[in-house]
Formats: sequence, C-alpha cells, structure tokens
Amino acid sequence: MTVRRGRHFLQIPGPSNTPDRILRAMDYPVMDHRGPDFADLGLSCIAGMKKVFKTEKCEVVIYPASGTGAWEAALANTMSPGDRVLMYETGQFATLWKNLALRLGLVPEFIDGDWRHGVDAAAIEKRLNEDKDHEIKAVCMVHNETSTGVTSRVKLVREAVDRTGHPALFMVDTISGLASADFRQDEWGVDVAIAGSQKGLMLPPGISFNCVSEKAQEVSKSATLPKSYWAWDEMITMNKTGYFPYTPATNLLYGLKEAIAMLMEEGLDNVFARHERVAEATRRAVHAWGLEVLCQEPKEYSPVLTAVVMPEGHSADNFRKVTLENFDMSLGNGLNKIADKVFRIGHLGDFNELMLMGTLSGVEMGLELAKVPHEKGGVDAAMAYLVNPQAR
Ligand SMILES: *Cc1c(COP(=O)(O)O)cnc(C)c1O
Repeated sequence: MTVRRGRHFLQIPGPSNTPDRILRAMDYPVMDHRGPDFADLGLSCIAGMKKVFKTEKCEVVIYPASGTGAWEAALANTMSPGDRVLMYETGQFATLWKNLALRLGLVPEFIDGDWRHGVDAAAIEKRLNEDKDHEIKAVCMVHNETSTGVTSRVKLVREAVDRTGHPALFMVDTISGLASADFRQDEWGVDVAIAGSQKGLMLPPGISFNCVSEKAQEVSKSATLPKSYWAWDEMITMNKTGYFPYTPATNLLYGLKEAIAMLMEEGLDNVFARHERVAEATRRAVHAWGLEVLCQEPKEYSPVLTAVVMPEGHSADNFRKVTLENFDMSLGNGLNKIADKVFRIGHLGDFNELMLMGTLSGVEMGLELAKVPHEKGGVDAAMAYLVNPQAR
C-alpha cells in the first residue's frame, strides 16, 4: 500500500468534501430518538431544510437512504401502476430515474437528449399539449445533471407546463443542485423535489429528502403503488412533533443541523456566487488547455461540476488513474455513453479558490504525465480570473 501524506483531493461531483465542523458535529454520542431531547433536533432540521428548499408551503421529509431512495419515494407516493410519466434524457441520472420508474411498473416516456444540453422546455410543452386525456401524471426532470455538468432551467420548464394547463405533477431531482445551485421550490411550483446529503449539503452519504407540495400530498392519498417505508403520511404526521416513525440517521442529523447553520451564516446567495465563481475559473482553465467543456449551452453551465471532453483517441480513465496515482486526487469518471470519453471536475460544497487551484494544478500536471495533448496555461487562466475584480 502506498502511504500518502496531506489531504486527499476528493474532486468527484459527490460525495463532496465534508468540512471538519460537520465531522465534529457528528462526533457525538448517539441519542435516544424517542427521548425528550430529540424533538429539538428533528424540528430544527426540518425547519432549516425548508429554508434551503425555499419553501413555506411544502413539507420536508427526511429518509435514512441515499438519493435513489428519495427518487423512489417521490414516485411510490404519487403514482399508480401503469401511470405515464414524462421524463427527459439529460444524462445518466435521468436515465437511472427512468429505469427506476420502469421497475416500479410505471410507463415512462423518455424524450431523447444528447447529453450536452438541459431539458428542452418546448419539447415538454409540445408533448403535454398532445396529451388531451391527461394520461401523463408527472413531469420529471433532473435539475443539475451530474453526469454531464449541465444545469437545466427549472423555471422555464415550469412555465412551459403552466402554458399547457396540464395537471401533471412537477418533480425535480435536485440531488446535486440543492445548496450549490439556486433552487426555489415555491416560486418554481415544484410539487416534489428530491435531494441528497452528500453533494451541496456537504454531509456524508446516507440521508435524502423529498420536499412535497400540498397538491402532491393530495394526489398521494389516492395513488395505489405500494408504499410503506417511503410513505409520506406517517412521516409528515410524526414530524410535526419532531419525531420520526422509524429510527432516523441520528448522527447525520447532527451533521445536517450544522450544515444548515453553515449555509445560513454564509447566505445562500453567497454560496451560489462562490460556486459560479469557481465554475467560471474552471471553464477558463479548460479552454486555455484547448479542451472542450461537455455542456454546449453557456446558460446551462453547471456551478457544481465541469465535465471535460478528452481529445479523440485518449482515455479519460487512464488520465484519472495517472492523476490519482501521482497526485492523490480523485476526479469523476464518464458514465454510460460517455464512459472513458470525459472526466468530471467536482467544485461543489465545502470548496474555495485555493482548493480549486490545487485541483486545476493536479489536472494540468496529470494531462502532461498521461501525455494528453493540451496547451499550457490553464492554471494561469483560472488565477487571472480569480483576481479579476469582476470575479470578486
Ligand atoms: C448523486 C445523484 C443521484 C443518486 O443519488 P445516490 O445518493 O447515489 O443514490 C441521483 N441524481 C443525481 C442528479 C445525482 O447527482
């Protein structure tokens, strides 16, 4: 085994780095989740998450599960066997959610995408207009597509749905978006948002969320897919007192409370601006290297991660291996259709300019050692941007 010193650079787009402050908040004895002290913790996590989702009207449900569990919960609570759901192929995570819908016995309609653009609101509008009998029960989209570094504009999709007057529920996977990219549950009329702990919320993996509108709760009363562990009704009822129907992930909730405090201290707008700043610096580095960003629409550039296209004939996975072995940095791999063709730089969560400079230096040195054709000067381009008053 190779002995390494100094911090490992975990620059995959989730799980992200967990700050020491959160680690310390979790390093505390497990408490009785039915005891008198627990309710404060439960209530403060739920109230705090409402602020993060920007909702006053919706209910937040917290599951001891990864994001995939919360995906399932969103559908299991609201759908009946054979229901049609309209989904859009932004990339691998949209594909996985579609596959989950199939396994649940739903009928997903998957609008083809090229993995370089976000959701085309016009395509959603067109399909809903054709659906005169309202067979489509939900429109499901991924906010920040973590496999491609493309952030879809949720608001445009909501507006498109509204223009059709179609009654379908609107569900948004913001697992990697929330707390890194702006998200507005109430303003954007989201019926079910899905989120996870290990991306923008800076926690280890293990808890996930649904943020649920009144309309979705109403629909869930007559929906007939089996639901027990995921059922919202018992959760929402017990949560009013700060308790949970089954054992919550106690220590992750200590961490969540701290994460919310950190986000509120910084201010969500500042959190988003910090992500935009490091993302722009990253893209400037990529362009200076003469490489291509996978996302083709500047308005959809992700503040969370940047996927970089490898020059033809060069292996992204080999480059990542060389970078890990030499500089102890983990970068994200290309998934599915773009396996070995792209690598992904995560710049989310507990992250700042100097961490970015370390990251980009590792990439630039890795490109050289892996003999990937590129221009020098990516790191310089990022530094020049970060000291520019425009970026401050
Ligand atoms: C990470 C992620 C998921 C999957 O979450 P898990 O916690 O791995 O189950 C789903 N959607 C998006 C957009 C993600 O980034």
